[in-house]
Amino acid sequence: MRPTVLNPLYAPISTLQGVGPKVGRLIERVAGPNVVDLLWHVPTGIIDRRLAPKIAVAPIGTTVTLTVRVDEHRAPRNPRLPYKVRCSDETGSIDLVFFRVHGDYVEKALPIDRVRVVSGRIERYGDALQMPHPDYIVPLEEAATLPTIEPVYGLTEGLNLKVMAKAVRGALARAPDTPEWHDAALLAREGWPAWKAALLAVHRPERMDALGLETFARRRLAYDELLANQLALALMRARVRRARGRSLKGDGRLRALVAAALPYTLTGAQKTAIQEIETDLVQPHRMLRLLQGDVGSGKTVVALFAMLIAIEAGAQAALMAPTEILARQHMKTLEPFAEAAGIKLVAVLGRERGRGRAEALARLADGSADIAIGTHALIEEEVTFRDLALVVIDEQHRFGVHQRLMLGAKGSAVDVLVMTATPIPRTLTLTAYGDMDVSRLTERPAGRLPIDTRVVPLDRLDEIVAHAKQAITQGARIYWVCPLVEESELIDLAAAAERHAALRQIFGERVGLVHGRMKSSEKDAAMAAFAAGTIDLLVATTVIEVGIDVPEASIIIVEHAERFGLAQLHQLRGRVGRGARQSHCVLLYAAPLGETARARLRIMRETDDGFRIAEEDLRLRGAGELLGTRQSGLPAFKLADLAAHSELLAMARDDARLVLDRDPTLTGKRGEALRLLLYLFERDAAVRLIASG
Ligand code: ADP
Ligand code: MG
Repeated sequence: MRPTVLNPLYAPISTLQGVGPKVGRLIERVAGPNVVDLLWHVPTGIIDRRLAPKIAVAPIGTTVTLTVRVDEHRAPRNPRLPYKVRCSDETGSIDLVFFRVHGDYVEKALPIDRVRVVSGRIERYGDALQMPHPDYIVPLEEAATLPTIEPVYGLTEGLNLKVMAKAVRGALARAPDTPEWHDAALLAREGWPAWKAALLAVHRPERMDALGLETFARRRLAYDELLANQLALALMRARVRRARGRSLKGDGRLRALVAAALPYTLTGAQKTAIQEIETDLVQPHRMLRLLQGDVGSGKTVVALFAMLIAIEAGAQAALMAPTEILARQHMKTLEPFAEAAGIKLVAVLGRERGRGRAEALARLADGSADIAIGTHALIEEEVTFRDLALVVIDEQHRFGVHQRLMLGAKGSAVDVLVMTATPIPRTLTLTAYGDMDVSRLTERPAGRLPIDTRVVPLDRLDEIVAHAKQAITQGARIYWVCPLVEESELIDLAAAAERHAALRQIFGERVGLVHGRMKSSEKDAAMAAFAAGTIDLLVATTVIEVGIDVPEASIIIVEHAERFGLAQLHQLRGRVGRGARQSHCVLLYAAPLGETARARLRIMRETDDGFRIAEEDLRLRGAGELLGTRQSGLPAFKLADLAAHSELLAMARDDARLVLDRDPTLTGKRGEALRLLLYLFERDAAVRLIASG
């Protein structure tokens, strides 16, 4: 149960004074649904009203506070024209300008011949100075009530700053004084204020530089968030470790059969990874290992060897992929090896019903099938195993921790291998996976030609099309990628459909289209046609980003490459260069390029090392923005910035480890405070892991 002191923060935003349902929805859109989300909605700037010049010397384009006499009201006859109020001081005059004036509030606020203090932004309009819609108009006696410095918050259409600022103040007023959850020595060393003081400092910046990521207050809040993250992951890991495990020891019989059937030799990195996995599996505790490997680095065969060990030990294994296409692909890849080893694979896909499925489930239940390959359909209740001992999860970032646990629950003491093709920088691995053991495939399989990457402006499209046409006559297969920006999915789909139509005009019938809104059977059909070579050119949105393997495809053309993040471009490029043919990647961009986009495209030309690209990605844009947390599956931080605060992350990891060593049930004084921290950052599930022992 969440501690009651936090309840006022975990109420809906509309419970704040001055926030009705309509404003509540707008605030929810920018900040989040609960009062607590406003605490994390930190200012992006400040408005400084302390500048109080005479009219004649007021700088254009800045916010000032003026003391003026009201001279004349000029109400327009046409209500669509602005209502102007001429004011002056001894140095000059200025028009206060109001649009869409209803009622007489302007007349009341600005009576003729009276002195008023007004604050707002000054602009020049022709020869006249004007201040459109002053933020404040008060009589001279009330000048002291004007705020001198105001925080500026991220807003949305229809939501104004005053309303937002008031809501945030309301949220801050609800922030309780909390017991300190950090070590006193740490606070003293870093010079950090208490939690509530830090919050107030961040929301009441006195100067522009108080908004930075490096202030004491901001670093403290970032550390709070990172510690909550690391502690939650450490609890999860401790739970896995505590759980009874089993020792899986294979005799190598099946692995020898498969090794003999492999058309290539394993790379050193693959051998090392398999060795690490084997060592884990023999141990009596549970394996929780991440296999990180760039696109095309050969993770699948490593997974196969891991599964073979489980089967040699007399148990079963499951491989879960994020999409049906990928599950089928794994099926196809692994089938010949299964045959060589004399083991049985079955597919468990969401779409399949009827006899085939019933038979597959029966075989898993009675143990006559050794490996289940499927999608999240594997989690469904009716899927049971005789003895599931190892779960391999491919492209894990599409799955949640929860799903991982669900699948694990289908066996006893199940070992888990997670594979990811997103080469995440080390710092980020820590936030997403905590202290998981990691195997990295850093080496490419031998004999691969490097991909020739070109960066070309869109106005040379005709040239590219001509090259593509020629390549196709020589038997090439081409991906043509159109960007998909989530905000306007339909428009982008229209763009892809249009490109598809245009390319059909040029290339004829053998042009396919695949995008995320298609039914998965249609998607599969288009992919299958491309794989079989009945289609030469496949127009696609980024649905092809993850995992698709058509070794015959040797050219990828990415339209509006400047709109993609580095990690995404790298994933896309990895779709080619898998076969014997020299591969090409053409990154088409719309000029002019911004500085970051230019740097990104340059890095793509310079290197194909996914780990380096991931590091550059982080450096270029800061983690949240660039990796697109939704796509990468990385946690979105509200206060911490993984580029700026990476050393805090490492500290948080060590801290979390130490805390759990000393107080695994979080029952000491600091432990109690840390529970509060976990709830504050909505890690309720982690707290339950402690409770359930
Ligand atoms: P990913 O890591 O992207 O999942 P895959 O497992 O799909 O990579 O492997 C990509 C391709 O490389 C496959 O066609 C596979 O057969 C091939 N491959 C894997 N290991 C090796 C190796 N050691 N030598 C040569 N080719 C390999
Ligand atoms: Mg793969």
